[in-house]
Amino acid sequence: MVRRCIYCGTENDLSKSDIIPDALTNGKIINPNVCRVDHNNKFSDMFEDEVISKLAFITNELDIKSSKGNQYARYAASVIVEGTEYTTKMNADTDLFNKKIMRSADGKSLIGPMDAIKKMKGIDYSKIIETDINQIEIEKRVSIDMGVFFDQKIHRLAAKIAFEWYCLNNNVANKLNAFESVIEFILTGEGTDPVTIIGSEDIYNLINQMSDLGSHSLFSYVAGDGSVNVLVSLFGIVIYNVRICDHIIQECPYNAMFLTINLDAGRIGFKFTSKNALEQELQNGFQPIGLFNGLQVMCPNNINDNSMTCKMIYSLSGVYNTNLPFNDEDTEELIAIIKKHLNKVLNISALTIRGLKRFVKEHKVNIEKGIVFNPYGTNMKAIFTFYLIFAIGIAENHIQSFKDLNEFVSKRFSGKEIAISEELCNMLQKEMMENEQYAGIIKKGAKIIEEMSFD
Ligand SMILES: [Zn+2]
Repeated sequence: MVRRCIYCGTENDLSKSDIIPDALTNGKIINPNVCRVDHNNKFSDMFEDEVISKLAFITNELDIKSSKGNQYARYAASVIVEGTEYTTKMNADTDLFNKKIMRSADGKSLIGPMDAIKKMKGIDYSKIIETDINQIEIEKRVSIDMGVFFDQKIHRLAAKIAFEWYCLNNNVANKLNAFESVIEFILTGEGTDPVTIIGSEDIYNLINQMSDLGSHSLFSYVAGDGSVNVLVSLFGIVIYNVRICDHIIQECPYNAMFLTINLDAGRIGFKFTSKNALEQELQNGFQPIGLFNGLQVMCPNNINDNSMTCKMIYSLSGVYNTNLPFNDEDTEELIAIIKKHLNKVLNISALTIRGLKRFVKEHKVNIEKGIVFNPYGTNMKAIFTFYLIFAIGIAENHIQSFKDLNEFVSKRFSGKEIAISEELCNMLQKEMMENEQYAGIIKKGAKIIEEMSFD
């Protein structure tokens, strides 16, 4: 069979399309049936680049970097140093005072490394004030334009992700008439918008039960009106429903599917023709192992199947055969729901080995010199991460792998998801500072992290 582009039907110059743009994920999924010039390449300019740049703060915080640029995304932030506000573009907290000179919002002050300031032309030396950044209060503020989640461009991106993933799993290698409407919207932004933003907390809970914090997830189902739909969850922060076509078509037998990709690129997924087929497998997937208090106890045949929980949640979900309560406008209620998930994803530390290694690399110079904590510091995530490094250092040989660290965190903080609060961070910083050797211990911990491998 000749493979053709799923958007236009050409068989010429097909290329591999990253279903989720490379800059938004550490894991790759590819649809090989997208023509290079007209479709794969043009999507960047049409809608992808703009969405990516507006989500830069989120990808940066979640330690996602584009494999092409090999750099974390830069984002705009304002930094308040002793009451004066400076605006800057940054990609790591550590590069704030290391290299750059920042100009204050009112244009009256500059802040930067002393040698860089002295090199500037026309500087009046008598007006330079020396400060120790370990002894002053520094606050970083980032504002996120909530409009990005409601923009037509993110709708087109969600539709593209859902459509390419659905076609991939159904081995579609041609342009099909049933998809005309969704294709038109992706390519032009015109026609009926097949994308609605989900405003129901039940759906967020459903997807979040099936995925790790910060993951992207895709969930296909047939709705009560017979239409084929895919839920697209970006980072677990916002979920879109994409209507792929009005009814099941012969060419696409798989309609009960799920995939989640976490921040360390790990994935869980399954595909079934229907919810019934999935339920059938679940029933056959267990065997009785005996009676317990008069109840038959069942055990899964394959205990290594890590998708089992997801399959069970899928089979119990009410999404199938019902019509979702959709919400379309950027109502205050909807903004509140997205903000809530955004805060959760950014403030609860998702432990990733990638994130730890990056942190050690970025703080390398100071760690080598010996960390001195700033008692006026406000970067809670940094304090929390230093505490993990400290714990690894103090445990010496007991925390050697990422798995060991996860176990330690589960025990120490009861659970893998930790809400980072000011109170918690003050306590952790105090605990570290009470140990006179803390700088040396952190140095030791950092070395162990550098040597940890990705399992
Ligand atoms: Zn094409």
